Amino acid sequence: MPLVKANFRPLNGEERNVAVTSAQLHAHACIICGNAPGGLQPAGHVYTPVADGEVGWLVVACPTHRTGEAA
Ligand SMILES: [Zn+2]
Repeated sequence: MPLVKANFRPLNGEERNVAVTSAQLHAHACIICGNAPGGLQPAGHVYTPVADGEVGWLVVACPTHRTGEAA
């Protein structure tokens, strides 16, 4: 699956660069580990660059990575 470079701004923790899959970008998989167990919850936003700025995406994390801290 192709990866998209983006900035991840977690609910807790530092903003950082990530490479995410389409499933992660569309909140169908954990933003940290890429798995899709039950209990995915909002974890912050990912921003992808566009010509005149950036687009924000609500992303989710599994219970293990809910805090948005690095795995
Ligand atoms: Zn996870």
